[in-house]
Amino acid sequence: MNYEGMIFRPPSEAASLILQVTVGCSYNRCTFCSAYQEKSFRVKSFEEMKEDIDEASLCRQPIRRVFLADGDALVLPQEELVRILSYLKTKLKKLERVGIYANARDILNKSVEELKELRELGLGILYLGVESGNREVLKRIRKNATVDRLIRAGRRVKESEILLSVTVLLGIGGVEMSHAHAEDTGKVLTEMDPDFIGALSLIVVPGTPIAKEIETGKFVLPDPFGLVRELEIMIGSCHLTRCFFASNHASNYLPLRIRMPEGKEEALRRIREVLRRNDPMLLKPEYLRAL
Ligand code: SF4
Repeated sequence: MNYEGMIFRPPSEAASLILQVTVGCSYNRCTFCSAYQEKSFRVKSFEEMKEDIDEASLCRQPIRRVFLADGDALVLPQEELVRILSYLKTKLKKLERVGIYANARDILNKSVEELKELRELGLGILYLGVESGNREVLKRIRKNATVDRLIRAGRRVKESEILLSVTVLLGIGGVEMSHAHAEDTGKVLTEMDPDFIGALSLIVVPGTPIAKEIETGKFVLPDPFGLVRELEIMIGSCHLTRCFFASNHASNYLPLRIRMPEGKEEALRRIREVLRRNDPMLLKPEYLRAL
């Protein structure tokens, strides 16, 4: 397989074949993100992808899942995605599901009918970075999405019956916006009603714009219990019909796996107990945290 630079994929795609169809992120301006800073965005040619798919098809182990990288592969034009998915289907006989990263802009550039067409060709799950449901925070982190567009994008994915997995970022509002960020994110999650939610905690990467804001004192990261408090507010203010909520990403201080809505009250009880005891021993040690 021909990979350019570091490859990122959601934790749930650990066993998937990663097919790099684009290099980097076509937007690449979120203030906290360092993932694709070193890459100039480009779309790989179909010939390059075909070579990788042909190679994968020779694998003795059946390939059931494929993840299309890099950062926002849904930016590809519809006909190109149709071509890739169709070829995957032809060559990988046991293929069950294809996943992809997307942002609100790319989703809203596709109609429900187009998304349904992709679903019929195997696109089974879409990963969308929401980060925050607060208007001001989205502006400050240059997310290239408004609250309204995030909600519309999430609903469009649901309407097309592709699984929707979203990530939210604890700490991204800083101390100043902490409460509003957590509460508004819970509300946006309610509006989107995704199938999966992954809560991550902000880990500041040197060289990113947000790291510079910290140096100048413009942004102050909440302390570990502040991040746990955000988790409590966020979970408390979201009302989901059927969702798996996880905060077990390596960046988090308090790992939880919650089936919503039935596990919500128990999760809140657990978080409140940790906050009440205020004992750092109850949190993941700093050296075990990672991106
Ligand atoms: S967070 Fe997503 S959209 Fe923003 S720069 Fe990183 S990969 Fe691109």
